[in-house]
Amino acid sequence: MKLPNDARFGTICIHAGQEPEPATGAIIPPIFQTSTYVQDALGKHKGYEYGRTQNPTRAALEANIAALEGGRAGFAFASGMAAIGAIASLLQAGDHTVVTDNTYGGTYRLFERVLRRYNLEFTYVDTSKAAEVEAAIRPTTRLVFLETPTNPMMQIADIARVAEIAHARAALVVVDNTFASPFVQQPIRLGADLVIHSTTKYLNGHSDGIGGVVVATGEKEIEWLRFVQNAAGAILGPFESWLVLRGTKTLALRMPQHNANGLALAQCLARHPKVHKVFYPGLPDHPQHELARRQMRGFGGMLSFELGSLEAARAVLDHVRLMALAESLGGVETLICHPATMTHASVPDERKRRLGISDGLVRISVGVEDVEDLKADLEQALARV
Ligand SMILES: *Cc1c(COP(=O)(O)O)cnc(C)c1O
Repeated sequence: MKLPNDARFGTICIHAGQEPEPATGAIIPPIFQTSTYVQDALGKHKGYEYGRTQNPTRAALEANIAALEGGRAGFAFASGMAAIGAIASLLQAGDHTVVTDNTYGGTYRLFERVLRRYNLEFTYVDTSKAAEVEAAIRPTTRLVFLETPTNPMMQIADIARVAEIAHARAALVVVDNTFASPFVQQPIRLGADLVIHSTTKYLNGHSDGIGGVVVATGEKEIEWLRFVQNAAGAILGPFESWLVLRGTKTLALRMPQHNANGLALAQCLARHPKVHKVFYPGLPDHPQHELARRQMRGFGGMLSFELGSLEAARAVLDHVRLMALAESLGGVETLICHPATMTHASVPDERKRRLGISDGLVRISVGVEDVEDLKADLEQALARV
């Protein structure tokens, strides 16, 4: 079994990083649930010494996701936040980072409440406007940290344009690609240096594990991340690694359905008289619709919409039957949530207002159910508004 060099995405999903296991021929990489490895003699081992440092199941997943993103190496961590923490370890005291202003709430919390204590600086800008990124870069800027589409306002950053700007000023570009998945968008091919994922979302795809991964391209970053993964130790366990590896096998099947269902629900909501506004890059009135068409393959399964008040949002959230009221996203089942009080509860009120995360905003992670059932569920919940 050999993966051709020009293998296409759907083939890479299934085969990259995975060889039949040599002892038995098992086609699926086993869960190597072990803390240590017996050595043949003093100073003589098979390349495996200790479970934090090396694990074959984790290594298979890392190679798989690195291939999916077109990167050179992957590093799997205990959560998406641990992966972002590993990226942050590339910084030194005094360094500055430019960040997407409506970034994931947990990322904002890590940067503002934890990392600022270590004399690191962060500036938040609307990264859908390349000129704002350019204006925010300082001589001390080491990283530009992009999220596109953003959560929950679904703004799109021009990754290639931002990469040009950042590289001209010797800064690295990191893209949190969690919302899109590598099926929809591959930031490294557009010029990004590092990609992070919360594998908890589309890569796992089945809402049954927490994890994160960093994919890197540069030799220096790869060497440092390998060192930090072992030195700080926030590794993904073998069972969680196996679950994500099982998830990526069907990524190329799941994503077209997330894309189709996302677009269909966005269009349905855009026509609904009780909905004030829909935020989805696949709608022609989205401010970066043309960019999204160029940069993305489909528009993903995430959307949000404005109902005008907390009461209206509550009516929908309390009356959906098929959709589950829950945080998180990217699983096969449809989840609905209230960003202001759930996923973005840790963002200060004034900041939420500025970003448009109002009390009437509802977010949906559109799953892969039959879309007619999803439409009917929303219809009957909206009738309660
Ligand atoms: C969920 C998420 C994270 C954090 O990942 P965890 O696995 O929950 O730690 C980071 N970024 C984005 C965009 C996310 O959706």
